[in-house]
Amino acid sequence: MKGTIKIDSDQCKGCGFCVEACPNDVIEIGSQRNAMGYFYAVVKKAKGKDDKGCTGCSLCAIMCPEVAIEVYREKR
Ligand code: SF4
Ligand code: SF4
Repeated sequence: MKGTIKIDSDQCKGCGFCVEACPNDVIEIGSQRNAMGYFYAVVKKAKGKDDKGCTGCSLCAIMCPEVAIEVYREKR
């Protein structure tokens, strides 16, 4: 299955739990700070595709204590 995620950067506190949780290495902590001053999580950019490797498993969203991640799944 293919999936995409949206991370609400204003909710993120940069804890990195989602980065650890993702089995496909899709997420990283970026170099920009949000309004609260946290370096927030972003989807890794890879070869022009910004959702490379995401399977829509939702582990990142389940792990996020701030409920900052939404997961979308594409049915095939
Ligand atoms: S839904 Fe699964 S594969 Fe996609 S970014 Fe989250 S943990 Fe990774
Ligand atoms: S788990 Fe949530 S709060 Fe923590 S870095 Fe990921 S998106 Fe941000």
